[in-house]
Amino acid sequence: MFELSKSQKQIVKAARDFAKGEFDKDLAYELEKSRTFPIQVWEKAADLGFIGIHYPEDHGGGGLGLLENVLITEELCHQDSALGYAISHAGFASECLALFASDEIKSRVLPQIAEGKALSGAAFSETQLGAIPLALQTSAVEQNGKWVINGEKTYVINGGAANYYILLCQTDLSVEPADKGRSLILVEADSPGIKVVDCGKNLGGNMVNTADLIFENVRVPASNLIGKIGKGTDYIQRYFDDSRIMDAAQAVGIAAGALDRTLEYTKGRVQFNRRIIDFQVTRHKIAEMATQIELSRIITYKAAWIRDNGKTDSKLCSMAKMTAAQTAVNACNHAIQMFGGYGYMTEYEVERFYRDARMIENSSGNNHIQKDIIAAGIVGKN
Ligand SMILES: Cc1cc2nc3c(=O)[nH]c(=O)nc-3n(C[C@H](O)[C@H](O)[C@H](O)COP(=O)(O)OP(=O)(O)OC[C@H]3O[C@@H](n4cnc5c(N)ncnc54)[C@H](O)[C@@H]3O)c2cc1C
Repeated sequence: MFELSKSQKQIVKAARDFAKGEFDKDLAYELEKSRTFPIQVWEKAADLGFIGIHYPEDHGGGGLGLLENVLITEELCHQDSALGYAISHAGFASECLALFASDEIKSRVLPQIAEGKALSGAAFSETQLGAIPLALQTSAVEQNGKWVINGEKTYVINGGAANYYILLCQTDLSVEPADKGRSLILVEADSPGIKVVDCGKNLGGNMVNTADLIFENVRVPASNLIGKIGKGTDYIQRYFDDSRIMDAAQAVGIAAGALDRTLEYTKGRVQFNRRIIDFQVTRHKIAEMATQIELSRIITYKAAWIRDNGKTDSKLCSMAKMTAAQTAVNACNHAIQMFGGYGYMTEYEVERFYRDARMIENSSGNNHIQKDIIAAGIVGKN
């Protein structure tokens, strides 16, 4: 798989052309400053089939693989880190539906996301608990054909803007270990009893809302259970394998975008009677950046390819996410350095690329978590 197929190359070209045509530096600057989701660009991306290309065809998707979704995400983030991030997270965690939900839920929700009519979000994290196998504070109790949900979730992407949340909650309060009593439930965002509290401005990714969600006696139909009861922990671990590949794709795109801008700038800027690109130290830095990007791209494509061929290698997904995120942070950091003082100015974009790259290292499990997963895959669980 060292060469993309003809149709994959066409997808790359289509995504690149779209991003070049629609993503604008000034638009990105304005939307980021005002913390506004790029609604029109999102709708156009959906019209062209760039959202949900990996959903099944009979549920509104393109019926293609994760690798095709990786290619699109990479191109969008290459052109603009923040717009790319916003568009590629429009259907955040909707893959949990594609993977585990009933046909009724899939056919009701996935087409809306693919058509750019609905946003989704993952309500997994809580302030006191992350990956620890203790009982979640958010619970759902079945009463008269409804789930009654109470609790709080934090740092929810698209929080307050999404139409649907994929909620991880405790449905069995007595089982040991407690993580065996967690389930996934689809929650319509307009259900009475949901309070949204804005998390405020972030270092990067500011076109996308992040919010805490407070659930007070929120009622959704019992049929909104995603997959089987008590399988929530297994499901999100499985989902995170895929989402980490997408994080890696985002990071590869951002790193490549930073490199492009660095090449253009250092070719044009003359200091000490030489173009900056002609100094050996610059050329070596460019060589290092390009090598790390290529390595990150290959491991990301491989992780996606394995997944599309019916297998999952969790350690490889974590390797891809960790490596690509580090590559993106390093590439953007070098870019800022080579731009000199201008690198620190918003007008030259690389500072925004840096801020957006840094976010990837802290989401979907920090680097320590990725190393735990990689080590478990090599040495076995502790
Ligand atoms: C941009 C962004 C978007 C997010 N979006 C969502 C979302 O949509 N939905 C959602 O539910 N959550 C979301 N999150 C929440 C995110 O997943 C949580 O931040 C995370 O689960 C909690 O872990 P943490 O690393 O932030 O903090 P903690 O678990 O408190 O860890 C803090 C630090 O302690 C150290 N540490 C933690 N665990 C270990 C360990 N096992 N070994 C060694 N050191 C360790 C690390 O240095 C870590 O960075 C988002 C976070 C970010 C940054």
